[in-house]
Amino acid sequence: MAKFMYMNYQDVDEQIEKLIHDKKNVNEIREEEPIGYTEYGLPIRHYTIGKGPKHIVVSGSYHAAEIITTIFVVHLMKDMAKDPHFKKNEYTLDFIPIVNPEGYLITTSMQDLYLGNNTVEEEKISKAKTYWASYRADAMIPAKVKKGELPETAMLEKKSYQALFDNVNLEEYLKGYPKIKDNVLSIVRENSYPIGVLAAWSANASGIDLSQNVPYNPAIKTLLEADGPVYNHLAYANTRKDIPGPINTPCRNLAHFTFEAENLAMLNFMEELNSRKDQEIIAYFNYHSVMGKMYQRPVKEDWLLKLYNIDYEKKVIENYVSSRIFRSANAYDIIESEDPYSYINEFLRLRYGIDIQVELSRMGSNPIGPLADPDTFENVTIKPNIKAFKYFVQNYDFIVNYSSFIQSLVSKLKEDNILFSVYQIYDLIDKIVRENPTLYTKLQEELRSMESNNAHVISYFYEELKNALNNNVKENEEVKKYVLEDKFNIGFHEFLNSLTMELNNHRSMPLTEDELYLLIDNIFRDYPELIANIKYNSLHNLETDELYQQLYSLIHNQIKMGNLFNKPKGR
Ligand SMILES: [Zn+2]
Repeated sequence: MAKFMYMNYQDVDEQIEKLIHDKKNVNEIREEEPIGYTEYGLPIRHYTIGKGPKHIVVSGSYHAAEIITTIFVVHLMKDMAKDPHFKKNEYTLDFIPIVNPEGYLITTSMQDLYLGNNTVEEEKISKAKTYWASYRADAMIPAKVKKGELPETAMLEKKSYQALFDNVNLEEYLKGYPKIKDNVLSIVRENSYPIGVLAAWSANASGIDLSQNVPYNPAIKTLLEADGPVYNHLAYANTRKDIPGPINTPCRNLAHFTFEAENLAMLNFMEELNSRKDQEIIAYFNYHSVMGKMYQRPVKEDWLLKLYNIDYEKKVIENYVSSRIFRSANAYDIIESEDPYSYINEFLRLRYGIDIQVELSRMGSNPIGPLADPDTFENVTIKPNIKAFKYFVQNYDFIVNYSSFIQSLVSKLKEDNILFSVYQIYDLIDKIVRENPTLYTKLQEELRSMESNNAHVISYFYEELKNALNNNVKENEEVKKYVLEDKFNIGFHEFLNSLTMELNNHRSMPLTEDELYLLIDNIFRDYPELIANIKYNSLHNLETDELYQQLYSLIHNQIKMGNLFNKPKGR
């Protein structure tokens, strides 16, 4: 049975300490100097694996209540330390498990009091379930208010998850951190907040949301111009964001922006790392924990593009191709529009290498809600995302070469006056593997070994693609019609049959024909690389069982994530 994987602030340090001395490690984990200290003196710790010039930065707990991101980073460190295939002379992994240690301490210290010291594991899981259910119900309140089922005042009432903390012993809270305790308790008292707001605290000890803490955050102006208090949404609806509090407050003084110490540390760290001689940040993965989706597309900030000479199209392509690689392991939906939320990440995303913000869990109810289902947490959240990270590292050279191939293809198509929006570039990337699996597999091989002379294959590929784009062939028609003419269709048909049978077993109504088509479309749209490999192997009489098994487990995860029958987003 899967374990309750909760870690409080002290647990994180202890687990990493143990990890550093683990004799089974094949790659050394080093503790570096902290990248900085918070206002209240907590270190922002930094660990590395590998000594190569290509740095991949991984951070957790920007939002403190999203503690599962830190738990994930610790497990990722554990896994990478034992990976014999990791190229330690080529890459350095820079882990910052907790960007916001004050907030992490505030949140988990309150949760510790709720979970209890000597509670057995089953009881902790059951408490996490209660927390999860209460939080979910609270998050529904705004919708009920909107529908007139509840009065407007319900928004400002104490939330039921907050009430779970009413009777905690405050004497025991934040022992050993009196200054942090004083400050957060004074925020709570001045606003007459329930003590339970500390249980899902996302800001730092000064009540500033680090993710929102950038000077060009449009929320600053909106908040400044508001007449009267501005409240948060959903489960935080009884707290304000125009003054320091648990979440979404961008800075201390709206009229005079200042960076928080944690963000200064993060910005300095990234800039210093990137400016080292012969070293560069090739990717930054910033883990958050809402929704179970991935943000990958940067907001186009013209002044930033000019200031740092950033090639936006390259960025868009590299991030998208990378998120597809991630998706082939974690089954998460890719958000294709510009990201409206992660403000600090926008700067980092445009400035340094490939950047994907993975929102780890769709369970919601941070911090402990996602831990209430240990099996799902381990097998749908942690393991597939570790795999996704590894796929990225293993495929980095291919991602870069393939992206530059796509970029040159796009400019050739533009020369022929075919106009390209970002969405059309995304479509093109998806289409290539879907419609030209054999060619794609060949191209993959060529791009992986750059020393081979691949110019002829690539120019051949250009022509093929141009023709395919001009012919406007309807995708996947042959599969929809169940034409059992080739080996791929026979195998895929069998796979589909057993999948629909299993799905139907769990439904009151069998799948309709439309749903079946949507399912087929989604499988093709979502896992083009895998489908390409299956097609290639089928057509060349190679083994396909393992690939189908992989496809099956991805779909299984998608069922758990609830995104199997999503209609493609309007492009
Ligand atoms: Zn977040």
